[in-house]
Amino acid sequence: MDVLEFLRPHIKSLKAYSSARDEFSEVNKDLTFIDANENPFQTCVNRYPDPLQNKLKNEWSKYIDIPVDQIMFGNGSDEVLDLIFRAFCIPEKDNVVILPPTYGMYEVLAQLNNIEVKKAELDENFQPVIGSILKLVNKNTKLLFICSPNNPSSNNLKENLIKDLINSFKGIIVIDEAYIDFSSQQSFVSCIDKYPNVIVTQTFSKAFGLAGIRLGICYANPKIIDVFNKIKPPYNISELTQKKALERLQNIDVVKKEVQTIMEQREFLIKELKTITCIDRVFASDANFILARVDDANLRYKQLIDNGIVVRNRTTQPLCENCLRFTIGTKTENLKLISILKSF
Ligand SMILES: *Cc1c(COP(=O)(O)O)cnc(C)c1O
Repeated sequence: MDVLEFLRPHIKSLKAYSSARDEFSEVNKDLTFIDANENPFQTCVNRYPDPLQNKLKNEWSKYIDIPVDQIMFGNGSDEVLDLIFRAFCIPEKDNVVILPPTYGMYEVLAQLNNIEVKKAELDENFQPVIGSILKLVNKNTKLLFICSPNNPSSNNLKENLIKDLINSFKGIIVIDEAYIDFSSQQSFVSCIDKYPNVIVTQTFSKAFGLAGIRLGICYANPKIIDVFNKIKPPYNISELTQKKALERLQNIDVVKKEVQTIMEQREFLIKELKTITCIDRVFASDANFILARVDDANLRYKQLIDNGIVVRNRTTQPLCENCLRFTIGTKTENLKLISILKSF
């Protein structure tokens, strides 16, 4: 399979913008930089950042054990997802398949790029139905979005079902693993060597506790990464973002401990939520949030706000009637949630 065949024709022949700092990414004391019209006086960030984030990418590559040429960073996964649309989908002609209930950005980005969205709902266990997905696919279906663990249902999509889809869908499969660090299931990043049409996205926004710096990760075949590096804005990852991510990576033990704590709190919260009268069902979670079905989602949502707690009301989403989504907070926050819910 030549994955480049899925690209939009004009993207195949595109030449990248060559930025002033492409060849001299490491600011070296011995060089005088008068090439990029920057202010020469020190502010720590008076220079343009490294367009390929080599230092961060090398460190991340070592940590995640994936070669550098299979990694691209984006300004949040949202930028990565947008690049995927722009690289592969021809507006008003191509289409993509999503599996509701799922992350809202796939459809927003499709609309923004003027791409038709086809929907194959998950089954009542929030698992993909291979037959109904493949029935939607036609020759213009370029992308299939799989979110695992899925937002808002919080469960893993079964590994064997994802593999079936990879083996049967002739297009680009995007596996969104924003919550993979909280999951009992293996990441699909190691499958990229074997399946050139698989793109995996992850993010520093959830487990890494860095939603504010906007840093998303794309893992793909080196040929795809090459194209993305060409079409992304040259300085898409700021110097401050790169620094902060490196700093966090150097304190990886802290990150792991926080993830561990969140997962312990998840078990505690699930156990507690199951005892609450207004909650009919608590779904199993492989993420850092819990989906629960209540007696009246709109009422409970409003009551929670009146008590100073903002949750996500998912009641209008398919299969999520009367469902609220709770992010796992600190122990104090979780106890507050429980005590307020108990008072209803
Ligand atoms: C939170 C989330 C993201 C993260 O997006 P960023 O732009 O990296 O913050 C991606 N996908 C899903 C499914 C999410 O829930």
